[in-house]
This record gives sequence, structure tokens and C-alpha cells, in this order.
Amino acid sequence: MYKKIIVPVDIGQLDKGEKILAKAIELVDDGGSILLLNVAEDIPGYISIELPVDFIEASIKEAAEQLTALNEKTGAKAQILTRVGSPAREILAAAEENAADLVIIASHRPDFSNYLLGSTADRVVRHAKCSVLVDR
Ligand code: ADP
Repeated sequence: MYKKIIVPVDIGQLDKGEKILAKAIELVDDGGSILLLNVAEDIPGYISIELPVDFIEASIKEAAEQLTALNEKTGAKAQILTRVGSPAREILAAAEENAADLVIIASHRPDFSNYLLGSTADRVVRHAKCSVLVDR
């Protein structure tokens, strides 16, 4: 059904990541591909000064290892991508750069601050140029 699916995974919510990756495996065409993406959040200068110099590099390495483990566990044969920046913006940029035809994203448990959709899911739904499946 879809040729290129982006599956953005928050390393703090790997269970949700596994669930949306399973959806991607169901929906990808034979010969299509899945991109597993984590975005290491950029840290403002006034905070990063308190952190080890290699903090971002270490986060990227940790994320790549977690995504590789998830890939092997599910047999998804996905490509692993890591980017640095704001999650929503980088998910949207990765979707465009890779000509994705679907992004599958998990939704946040509703609370008062972001009713129904989490802020990342919300922004991706609003701005994506391709289809977005929000997993509940
Ligand atoms: P927020 O805490 O901004 O409300 P969400 O709960 O909306 O975040 O996140 C929903 C989904 O967005 C996550 O399950 C995941 O699919 C994606 N996502 C959030 N943060 C990241 C990240 N840093 N890297 C990759 N995907 C992410």
C-alpha cells in the first residue's frame, strides 16, 4: 500500500515505537521500505554548557543502538535514521527528503496541556505533505 514509510520513535517510548513499527510492516508494499527515525533533541546553549561535550553524540549513538535492537526484534529490515533538532520539524524534513508516502506516529496520552494529540503528532499532522497515520 505504501512505498516509503517513516516511523519516528521516541527512545523514551519504545513500546509505542514497537507498536507503530508493527503497523508499518503490515502496510509497506513488497519492495517498499521503512525508515526508523529518532530525533535527538537540540539542547539550548545555556543548558548544554552544563553537560559533557559529547552529550549529543552519546544520545545519537544510544538511539541508533535502540533502533537497531527494535529493528532486529521485529524483523522490520528498516533503515535507521538519526537526526538532531526539534522532533516535529525533523520528522517533517525526513519525510520530504526521503519522499515518504506515509508517516506513522503515536499519539500522546491526552492531558490538559495537549488534548487529544501530543504536540509532536499534532505538528506532524498539520504540516506533513504526505499521509499521516496517528496510532491510538
Ligand atoms: P510530545 O511529548 O511532544 O507531546 P508526542 O507524545 O506527541 O510528543 O509524541 C508522539 C510521537 O511522536 C511519539 O510516539 C513518536 O512517534 C514521535 N516522537 C516524539 N518525539 C520524538 C523523537 N525525539 N524522535 C522521533 N520521534 C518522536
